[in-house]
Amino acid sequence: MDLATPLTYVKGVGPARAAMLEAKGLLTVEDLLGYIPFRYEDRSNLRTIKQLAPGEMATVVADVLSARVAGFRRRNLGLFEATFTDASRAVLAAKWFHSAYLGDVIAPGQRIALYGKVEFDSYSGELSMLHPEYELLSGDDEDGEAALHVGRVVPIYEAVAKLNTRLLRTLIHRILNTLAPLEDHLPPVPMRQQLALPDRWRAVRDIHFPPPDTDLRLLNSFRSPAHLRLIFEEFFWLELGLALKKDEARARAGIAFQLNERVREKIKAMLPFKPTAAQKRVLGEIAQDMAAPRPMSRLLQGDVGSGKTIVAAEAAVIAVENGYQTALLAPTEILATQHYLYLKPLLNKLGYVAGLFTGSFTGREKTQLKKLLAEGLIHVAVGTHALLEKDVEFHNLGLAIVDEQHRFGVMQRFGLLAKGAHPDVLVMTATPIPRTLALTLYGDLDVSVIDELPPGRKPIVTKHVTADRIERVYSFLKEQIDLGRQAYVVYPVIEESETQAMKAAQKMHEHLAREVFPGVSVGLLHGRLPADQKEAAMEQFKRGQIQILVATTVIEVGVDVPNATVMVVEQAERFGLAQLHQLRGRVGRGASQSYCILVTEKLGDTARERIRTLVDTGDGFQIAEMDLKLRGPGEFFGTKQSGLPSLRVANILRDQEILETARREAQDFLAHPPSAGDLEQALAYLRNHWQRRYGLVQVG
Ligand code: ADP
Ligand code: MG
Repeated sequence: MDLATPLTYVKGVGPARAAMLEAKGLLTVEDLLGYIPFRYEDRSNLRTIKQLAPGEMATVVADVLSARVAGFRRRNLGLFEATFTDASRAVLAAKWFHSAYLGDVIAPGQRIALYGKVEFDSYSGELSMLHPEYELLSGDDEDGEAALHVGRVVPIYEAVAKLNTRLLRTLIHRILNTLAPLEDHLPPVPMRQQLALPDRWRAVRDIHFPPPDTDLRLLNSFRSPAHLRLIFEEFFWLELGLALKKDEARARAGIAFQLNERVREKIKAMLPFKPTAAQKRVLGEIAQDMAAPRPMSRLLQGDVGSGKTIVAAEAAVIAVENGYQTALLAPTEILATQHYLYLKPLLNKLGYVAGLFTGSFTGREKTQLKKLLAEGLIHVAVGTHALLEKDVEFHNLGLAIVDEQHRFGVMQRFGLLAKGAHPDVLVMTATPIPRTLALTLYGDLDVSVIDELPPGRKPIVTKHVTADRIERVYSFLKEQIDLGRQAYVVYPVIEESETQAMKAAQKMHEHLAREVFPGVSVGLLHGRLPADQKEAAMEQFKRGQIQILVATTVIEVGVDVPNATVMVVEQAERFGLAQLHQLRGRVGRGASQSYCILVTEKLGDTARERIRTLVDTGDGFQIAEMDLKLRGPGEFFGTKQSGLPSLRVANILRDQEILETARREAQDFLAHPPSAGDLEQALAYLRNHWQRRYGLVQVG
C-alpha cells in the first residue's frame, strides 16, 4: 500500500463505501489521510456523570439505561429520549428532536460516548444534554480496535454520507498501520527549524491520533505541531509553484512598448475627464510593466465604480500606438457590449477601430469581423469568450485585458495568451479580494489597486424593505423619475434558471409598465434577448429614453449609466453579498444622491446578515471579508471554475499568518536555495505531486 493506492484496497472499504467516499473526492489513501479531524475529544481521563457541572461542554462514556421515541397525541415530532448511567451511578438524560430514527440506533445496554453541553433540568432534577453528538462504543469491533475509540485523545471526523466518525477513524488507523513511513520532501526552510516542526510521517500520524501529552486546546484550534507542519507544507508548495510560475513569466521575452511623448499626447486627447490620483498611479505601474521587455502579468483591483475601464483604455492606447492590437475580454455579453459602447467613442476620437465579438454575432458579419481582426484593421477587440474561439485570429495581439468581475476562472486568461506571442496581460477585478485569497489565487500576478473613487460621489443610501411595503418603493421610484432620474428593478435568477428569471422579469415588466407606471417608459433586459435587442435596450437606457429598466442579473456587472439613481432589488434574500454589492454599484455613478432598496420576501439568518452588512457598509473590502466568512473560501468565488486551489488541512481564513510565512519562505527558498540539489529535489516533487491538485500551478 502507498499513497496512491485506491481506497477500495483498504480492508473494510467495499464498493458501496468506496462510492460514498468518492462522492466526497476521497479516492486514494492519500486523500483519506488528508481528511483530517474537525475536532478532538479527550477520552483519556473522562469524568463521571456525577462530576459534570451544568453549562460546560463535556464528554462522557456511559451505558444506555432507557431509550424511546416519545409520541405526541396529534403530531409525531420524532422526539427521541434516552437516559444514561455510569460507574458513578448518577443519571444523565438526553433528547434529540426530529430523530425518531435513533430508535433503531440507540438501545439499552449499549456503551456510548456523548459530547454536548450539560444542562440542569430543574423540573426533573436531572442533568441533561440536548442533541449531544454520540458515538456507539460497543458493537462490531473488527480486529479488536475498540481501544481506538476511548482511553485516549480521539479524533472526530465529519461523517462522509453514512460513514460515521467511528468507521473513518478505524479506516484511517488501519491505513496508518499498514503504510510504510512517508518520505519527507519539505526542504529545510527556516520555519521548519525555528518551530521544530515534526517530520511528515510523524505529523500525519499525530494529526489523526495525537500522542497522549498533546494540548487539547492546540489540537482543537488547529495549532498542534502536526497541524502547523501540514498547514505550512500545503501553503509552501502552493506558493513555491506560484513563485516559480512568476519567475518563468518574467524570464520570457515580451514586448517593450515605447512610452514617448506621442503616446502621452494621445492618452490625454482620449481622456474624457481628469483621472484620479489612484488612476494615475496604477497607470504608471501598468505603463512601467508594458515598457519592460517581459510580459506584464498584473491584477488591477478596484471597487465597483472606481474607474477601471478608463485605465484599461489608457493601456490600450499604449499598445495601439506601438502598432499592436488589444483584446478586452468580459464575462458576459452585456458587459462586453457595455465596454464596447463606452470605449468606442473614446477610441474613435483617436482614429482607432473597435470591434465587438460576442456569442450571438453570426454569418457574414462574423466573417467580416474576423477578417478585419486577422488583418489588423481592428485595433481593439472587445468580447466575451467568443474571442477565445479557435478561428478568431489576431494580426498581432500585444495586450490582453481580462475583466473578471468575479466571473471568469483564472484559467481562461491563459486562453488569450496563446493568441499573441506573449502579450501583456492585465486582469481587472471589481470586489477587492481579501489579501489571503489574492495571494493564493493570483499569487503569480503583480497587483495594482485603485483605492479612491472619482470625485463628487456621494455614498449610496441603502434601505431594507419587506415585500408587503412595495407600494412605498414604487411611490419613491415615481418621485425620482419625476426628478428626471432613472432606475433599475432587478429580479433574481431562481434555481439557476435564467428562463424563470426572464419570466419573472417579463411579468413584472408588464405589471410595472401597465399598472404601476402608466406614463413612464419601462424597458426590459434579460439574458435571453437577442444581442441587438440587448444592445438597443442598453442604448435607450443610456440616452434616457427608458426610465425604468427591469432586468435580471445580467446587469450585475459593468453597466454604467450615471443618471440612474435607484436600484431596486427584488427578493434580495436570494442574492449573494458580492452580487448585491455589484448591483448596488450600478447606481451612485453621478453627482446626485443614489439609493439602493433591497426588497425581501422570506428572510433566513444568513440572508439577514447579508442585508445588514450592505445596509451598514459600502466598503467593498469589508463586504468581501464578510462574504468570505459567511460562505467560506470554497464558495467565495463560486465553484471549481474559480481556480481556487483545493486545500486539505489549511484554511485560508484561519491560517492567514502561516500563509504569509509560507509565501515568504517559498520565495526565499527559490531565490537562495541551501543547495542546488535541494532546489532540484523540491521542484521535482512539486511537479510530480502538487501540480494536479493546485491546478493553476503549471510548472514548466
Ligand atoms: P469600474 O471600476 O466599476 O469598472 P467604471 O470604469 O465603470 O468603474 O467607472 C465608473 C464611472 O466613473 C464611469 O461612468 C466613468 O466614466 C466614471 N469615472 C471614472 N473615472 C473617473 C474620473 N477620474 N473622474 C470622473 N469620472 C470618472
Ligand atoms: Mg467595470
